Amino acid sequence: MGLFDDNKVTYADKSDNDLNRAFFLFRIISQPFITKILTFLLKMSIKIGLPIKGIIKATIYKQFCGGTTIEGSQETIDNLWKSRIGTILNFSSEGKETKEDFISTKQEIIKTIKKASQSEKIPFAVFKPTGITAFSLLEKLSKNQSLNEQEQEKNQEFRNRIKEICKTAFELKVPLFIDAEESWIQTAIDEIVMEMMRKFNREKAWIFNTIQLYRNDRIAYLKEILMDAKNNNYFVGLKLVRGAYHGQEIERADRLKYPCPVHRKKEDTDKDFNLAQKFCVENIDRISFCSATHNEESSAYLTELITLHKLNKNDKRIIFSQLLGMSDHISYNLAKQGYYITKYVPYGPVKDVIPYLIRRAEENTSIAGQMNRELSNIIKEKKRRKYI
Ligand SMILES: Cc1cc2nc3c(=O)[nH]c(=O)nc-3n(C[C@H](O)[C@H](O)[C@H](O)COP(=O)(O)OP(=O)(O)OC[C@H]3O[C@@H](n4cnc5c(N)ncnc54)[C@H](O)[C@@H]3O)c2cc1C
Repeated sequence: MGLFDDNKVTYADKSDNDLNRAFFLFRIISQPFITKILTFLLKMSIKIGLPIKGIIKATIYKQFCGGTTIEGSQETIDNLWKSRIGTILNFSSEGKETKEDFISTKQEIIKTIKKASQSEKIPFAVFKPTGITAFSLLEKLSKNQSLNEQEQEKNQEFRNRIKEICKTAFELKVPLFIDAEESWIQTAIDEIVMEMMRKFNREKAWIFNTIQLYRNDRIAYLKEILMDAKNNNYFVGLKLVRGAYHGQEIERADRLKYPCPVHRKKEDTDKDFNLAQKFCVENIDRISFCSATHNEESSAYLTELITLHKLNKNDKRIIFSQLLGMSDHISYNLAKQGYYITKYVPYGPVKDVIPYLIRRAEENTSIAGQMNRELSNIIKEKKRRKYI
C-alpha cells in the first residue's frame, strides 16, 4: 500500500453524511463551468443580501471551515487531534479597509495566539498582513515610494500591530506563521518579517516567513536569508508554499509589461519547491520549516529526505501542513505514521470567509488531477463502507 493510500485511516473521523457532503461538493466544483456560475451567483446573492448563509454554512463552509468563532471551532480541533493532527486557527477576514477593522483583526489574531498557548492541540498561530493594514500601503512600501504624512502614520500603526502580534507569540511561546501574498506587496512584508525574525528568533524559530516557490527568485532569496541568519546569529522559520496567486501574477506582468516574477511552467515550480525542501533539511540546524502543500510527490519526497538525513519523523523543526477539508489522505496517513502534521482551520463569520471559500472552489477546479484524486478516494471509501 502506498504512503497515502489507507482510506480507512483517511476517513476515520468522517461519518457517512460527511462523506456524502464531500462527494457532492467535490463533484460540483470539479466542473469549471458550474463553479463559475455558482461563484458568480454567490457573490451576487451576498451583494443583494439574499438569505443564503444557512445553505453555505451547511455545505461548503462545513467542508472547509472550523466554525464562526474560536469556541465554535472546538469540535473540529478535537476531532483532528484524535488523529494527532494539530490545528492552526486561521481567522479569515478579507477585504477590510478601515483602521477599526485592522485593530479588531489584530485583537482576534492575538486571541488565537493566547488560545494556542493553552492547548497542545494548536501548535502554531498564523495571520495575513493585509488583515491588519491596507493593501495600497504595502504596495507603496514595496515600490519604495515616499509616503505622505498620513501614510507615514499608517505605516507606523502597521509596524506597531505586527510587533505586538510577534511579541505576544514570542512571550507566550507560540510559533507564528506570516502568510505571503501578491509579489507587488510582498517586498514590504518580507522586510518586516525579516526584522521580526532577527529580533525574536535568537534561541529558536518563533517567527516564520512564507516563501512562494512559484516565484523565480525564491531559491536565491532562501540562500540570502540563511546567510543573514548566520551573520546575525538567529534561527530561520519558513513556510514553503507553491503560491496562491499564479493567475493574477501572470495577468499583471503581461498587462503592465514587466518581467514575470513567477514560473510559467508547473514543473519549474515543482522543481523549486522540492529544491527548497532539500535546502531546508540540509540546513536543519538553523532552519525550521513547514511544508505547506497538497502535492503528494512533494510530501513523499520530504519523508524521504527525513529518512535520508536520519532525522526523527516527529522532528519539531519539520512540519507538514494542509488546509482543512483538502488532501486528508496526506494529512491522516502521515500523522498515523508519526510525522508532525497540522491543518489550517479557517474560521470567521460566513460572509467574511466567502472569498476564501471561492478560492478553494476555484483552486480545486483548476488543479488537474487533484480533484479526481479527492473524488476517487471518496468513492473508494463509500464502496469500502458498503461492503464491510
Ligand atoms: C497550510 C497552507 C498554507 C498556505 N499558505 C499560503 C500563503 O501564505 N501564501 C500563498 O500564496 N499560498 C499559500 N498556500 C496555498 C499554496 O500556495 C498553493 O496555492 C496550494 O497549496 C496549491 O499548491 P500545492 O503545493 O498544494 O500543489 P499543486 O496542486 O501541485 O500545485 C498547484 C500550484 O502550482 C502552481 N502552478 C500552477 N500552474 C502553474 C504553472 N503553469 N506554472 C508555474 N506554477 C504553476 C501554483 O502555485 C498552484 O497553486 C497555502 C497552502 C497550505 C496548504
